[in-house]
Amino acid sequence: MSDAIVQVENLKKSYGSVEAVRGVSFEVREGEVFGLLGPNGAGKTTTVEILEGLRKADDGRVRVCGLDPQGSGAAFQNVFGAALQSTALPEKLRVDEALALFASFYPKRRDPDELIRRFGLEEKRKAFYSQLSGGQKQRLALALSLVNEPRVIFLDEPTAGLDPQVRREIYDIIEELRQEKKTILLTTHYIEEAERLCDRVAVIDHGKVMAMGTPRELKARSAGTTRIEVRLAQPEDDGALRRLDAVTDCHSLDGSYVLHTTHTPQTLVALVKHLESRGNELQSLEIHSPSLEDVFIELTGRRLRD
Ligand code: ATP
Repeated sequence: MSDAIVQVENLKKSYGSVEAVRGVSFEVREGEVFGLLGPNGAGKTTTVEILEGLRKADDGRVRVCGLDPQGSGAAFQNVFGAALQSTALPEKLRVDEALALFASFYPKRRDPDELIRRFGLEEKRKAFYSQLSGGQKQRLALALSLVNEPRVIFLDEPTAGLDPQVRREIYDIIEELRQEKKTILLTTHYIEEAERLCDRVAVIDHGKVMAMGTPRELKARSAGTTRIEVRLAQPEDDGALRRLDAVTDCHSLDGSYVLHTTHTPQTLVALVKHLESRGNELQSLEIHSPSLEDVFIELTGRRLRD
């Protein structure tokens, strides 16, 4: 496709006997935020680091702005910006020095002062890297990823390990970049992050893409069912619950039963009657409209957790 900034075709990478990436394909188009959503160990970092030229693929084809990350030398460094999963800068490097240093590597560069203002780091301009909070370090990492006016930005787990308030601050910054039509590939294991920030998402698990589309498309694909999650006083047979009115599927998950229904009131009435007849009791009940998390559970049989 002509407007694809990042192209990944049948990418494979193993570490000894661990098949980290097993035939991954996707494209990131100009001006979109594309998310790789998956649990730890799914192969996200490996994929992104191959795109950044930090690791070599075993097989498949990757291009970033039409360039091969392994064979394009300095030209390649100029087209992308990256915030790695853990940006480790020297402890005694000051914020303004870090930006000036990174800017000096590139022919085309943004004004470090503008980036300092933009990322709310004015008060920390002269602070050592070691004196920054987790959120400030991440804001600096984002500022550094923009310093060479890149055509595409790779953000590997940009909010991992940050507390919820700081995470929302980072979301706002990425949201702004999205409004400016920057092309971004981000990896995350947070459903909320994928849903809120990404135009399109690839759900990745065990080194494979399980599904791809806009968050809305992925949710629409989740059979359009509402999910009723119940905890019961005593165990029940999945099969009996599956036969209740309007239930399309039922499985147990972490001690709960998850019922998918096309008609919530009918299923609730049938469930209560069934439990009464068995002398069983509801301990808790939650009703969820289809979410990206449901899609993930349907695809992988697992929840995404921190
Ligand atoms: P995380 O968010 O935890 O980094 P991820 O989805 O980014 O997860 P990867 O870091 O790509 O996943 O790891 C994929 C698999 O490859 C995991 O099983 C991991 O243990 C393994 N792996 C990654 N790097 C190496 C390495 N240098 N040597 C050996 N195994 C590795």
